Amino acid sequence: VFVLNYIKRLVRPKQKSLLVLLYHKVVNDVVPDGLTVNPEIYLEHLRFYKATFPVFSSIDEWREGNSSGVMITFDDGYVNNLNIVAPMHESLEIPFTIFMTTHWLEGRFFWWDIITQNKDWLASSNKMGTDEVLNSLMNLPHIEQKEKRVDELIFKYQLKNELNKDLRCMNIAELSALSNSKWVNIGSHTISHPRLALLSNENQEVELINSKIELEKITGKQIDCLSYPHGGKQAFNQESKMLASKIGYKYAFAAYSGKVSNAFDPYEIPRIHIGNYDVNELKQKLAKFL
Ligand SMILES: [Zn+2]
Repeated sequence: VFVLNYIKRLVRPKQKSLLVLLYHKVVNDVVPDGLTVNPEIYLEHLRFYKATFPVFSSIDEWREGNSSGVMITFDDGYVNNLNIVAPMHESLEIPFTIFMTTHWLEGRFFWWDIITQNKDWLASSNKMGTDEVLNSLMNLPHIEQKEKRVDELIFKYQLKNELNKDLRCMNIAELSALSNSKWVNIGSHTISHPRLALLSNENQEVELINSKIELEKITGKQIDCLSYPHGGKQAFNQESKMLASKIGYKYAFAAYSGKVSNAFDPYEIPRIHIGNYDVNELKQKLAKFL
């Protein structure tokens, strides 16, 4: 009952608001990492959204109207967004946005999945926990350093580097095909997924400009939104926001929770991380922000 009242308030508020939802991967049969949602559960989420809120395709669409609602986003650019997620959105006619990294566009696996999908292996052979390994890698500024370190770990601990095929990044042909769907918008998630705040201004600029150019070349569409990799308050800085604006992004999304209301910072839009929740948990999670 409380949740329903909250939801009614969201649909007919005094001041309209928007919840931007953040997902990463929708996959069966992988080691759960807090970022993975089961396909049947994801379908339940979509049915709940569709029955409850307007689902906006963009910030602009929300700004132009008078209603509150939600917007669905995915980060990183997994092939499961094409094979598993997009067909559900197409059949239910619900728009969504995918923020793509471009470094993995040969359809490779992301380094963080190589670590998390070897969780048990790593724990048994190494005294370090997976989170510790992930954190130390995230704090290396450059992708070359991360890949070198991951290669060393693969070699030293004989980690498997062929994962569930739904965990790889999309390739160029797949992204190009997906971008033709009327239910999909593509944004940039940088080239190599750095914590931007660790980079020099020059390197931040390269990440933001070159990913935009490459994605525009592949999709034939203007790329006007960005999501900051890692996305917490420490992951990007004032310079990242200024560069995003200067380079021509209209909006940039963070990854800490919050609600978007009429007065909002277009270069620091909060998003709510959604995990593998049943619909009741999902309602409770959203109710906190309404
Ligand atoms: Zn990401």
